[in-house]
Formats: sequence, structure tokens, C-alpha cells
Amino acid sequence: MSTKQEQQEARTTVEEVAPGALRMQLPIAIPGLRHVNMYCFPDARGATVIDPGLPDDASWAAVKQRLREADLEVRHVHTVLVTHSHPDHFGGAARFRAEAGARVIAHETFSVFGEHLHLAEPEVSVENLEPRAVVPRSAEELAAAPSGMHIPWGGDGPATGDRDRKQWERIRSSARTGLTPPVTHVVRHGDMVQLGGRPFRVVHSPGHTGDHICFYDPEAGTLLAGDHVLPSITPHISGLNSLSDPLQAFFDSLDRIVELGVLQRCLPAHGDVFDDVPGRIEAIKRHHRERLNKLVEISRKLGPATVTDYSHALFSERAWGIMAESETYAHLEHLRLLGRAESQRRDDGQLLYVS
Ligand SMILES: [Zn+2]
Ligand SMILES: [Zn+2]
Repeated sequence: MSTKQEQQEARTTVEEVAPGALRMQLPIAIPGLRHVNMYCFPDARGATVIDPGLPDDASWAAVKQRLREADLEVRHVHTVLVTHSHPDHFGGAARFRAEAGARVIAHETFSVFGEHLHLAEPEVSVENLEPRAVVPRSAEELAAAPSGMHIPWGGDGPATGDRDRKQWERIRSSARTGLTPPVTHVVRHGDMVQLGGRPFRVVHSPGHTGDHICFYDPEAGTLLAGDHVLPSITPHISGLNSLSDPLQAFFDSLDRIVELGVLQRCLPAHGDVFDDVPGRIEAIKRHHRERLNKLVEISRKLGPATVTDYSHALFSERAWGIMAESETYAHLEHLRLLGRAESQRRDDGQLLYVS
């Protein structure tokens, strides 16, 4: 079986992959992914980094080694940008904040397990290119925040075995023990940020998560894509976020990228740099259209069935679990909102879908 680009081990070399952009690959070990690309933009004051890996020691050791390759140290990093609220992207942010006093910037809706940010100055003008400051939440507020997550398709958590349940509990408890990154400033769609002295436009791109952002350099045609557009896998579309139709949001956000203008080069968060951005976007949309049609076919065989049943018919057994169910739910909801499926809640709380 061939290994996907996203599953290759992190390279130790640092490479300039677009004007001003150094790629630094960090090791991560989560299902289907073996590295994350941290991009570094040196400037006269030091450097900005984007998506600094998992919060573990292996990622952090690699961060320091890669910076040294570029004659930089942790203390030189004045700004950390985070494309979205997944730990392989925001993990190193807390250490850059603690060790270098770096600003940590994310989208204004950035939220880890429902913990939203507080804005200090929500109406700062865009012209000054300064992201808005955030007031950190107090310990009392965090303690009062609702714990756990509602499973909209029924039940009160993963219902597919102990392995999932343990993973779920671990995620829930880690969210309460400091995994949440210390975001100090937020941005909105259309804002500009300076990366290595070059102006990049913030592009809100909900779908993979509600708070996902990309960064676009109109002069060079460079797109920092995060997990929105990946070279050889399709990003996970979760039904467990605040979006009412995550798949439609994802399609709209893909169109938003094509409409940006000249796209010379895509710098994804996983896998290699690539150039044919519109071609890759079309392939990702095609994949999801095929999945939607497959679900309609499955419905013909199963009749009214639960999200778990659909996910078992759609995914191979080794992928079964909360991620597969969440993505299946997002697709079924999209069909329902298009009028191509109907849902009904059973007495035990489980949603039944039929096309
Ligand atoms: Zn992600
Ligand atoms: Zn990722």
C-alpha cells in the first residue's frame, strides 16, 4: 500500500517554499498523519510561525532544531498564527507565549471544546493591520463552562466501544487542563496580517472546523491553507461543530479560495506544497459528491437507519468510531437540508435517516 504524503515522517531540513516562507516539518503521531508543516516567516524583528505542532516534547524539540537551522531561536518568535482549533496546529502556541512572550492570533470564533474567547476591543479598524486583543477567561468562568459534548445524532457519547469512550474522556479532560491555547489577539475575514513583511489577507474558511482561517498573499499568489485544502487526503468534515451544515460551509469556503484571484502555490499544513489549487479543490468536491450519492444508495438498502449504521456501511471497519460517525452525520444533514433525505428521532434519542 502506498503511503500518502501526509503520512510521511517529518523531514529535518528547512526549505523556502514560497516568497518569505520557510517550511519546518514537525513530527506528530495521530491517525493518518505523521507530520505537520509549521511555516516560518523571518522579518526584521524576529519571526512569525504558523501552526506550531502538538503540545508534546517531541514536537517542541523539533521546533527548536528547525528554528536553529534558520539561525533563529524560540525567543525571536514574536507572533504565532493558528489556522484552527486542532491540537496538532495550536499545540506549541502556549510554549511560545510562555518562553518568548509571543502574541497568539486566531479567528474570532476560535473555540476549543466550546470555550470561546473574550474580545477586549471588538471594533479595531482593519487599516492599522493590528489584530484585536483578547481578555483571557478567568478560572471561575472556565470552571463554569459546560463540560462534555452533546452528540446531536443521539446518545451521550461514543457508543461504539471502550476504546472510543476512553479517547473521548481523555479529550474532555485535557481540554480542562491547559490544552486550550492562550490566544491573545483575534482576526476576522478580510483582515490583513504581516508575514515576513508581506501583507497576507485572512480568509475565513469554515468547514473542517467553524473557526478555520487561511492566509493569502495576493502579490505572490501564495495560499497558507491549513487543513482546508490538503494535497492527497480530504480534510475531516465534522458534524460536531457549531455549523448547521458543515459540508455546505466547506463547499462555500472552497469556492471562496478559487475566487481569491491568482493562486500560484498552496502551502498545506500536511503533505507537500503544490501548484494546481483549483484542480485539487475540484477533486475534493468530487469526492464529497460521490460520498453523498453513496449514502443515498445505502439508504435504499437499509431503509431508515441510525448514523452509526450508515457510517459502518460507508467506512471500512478500522475507521469506525466517533470521527466516522461525525463525518457521516455531516453528510446526512447536508442531504436532509437539500431535501434529499428525511430524519426522525427514535424513542431512545437516536436519529434515523432515510433518503
Ligand atoms: Zn485539523
Ligand atoms: Zn491538521
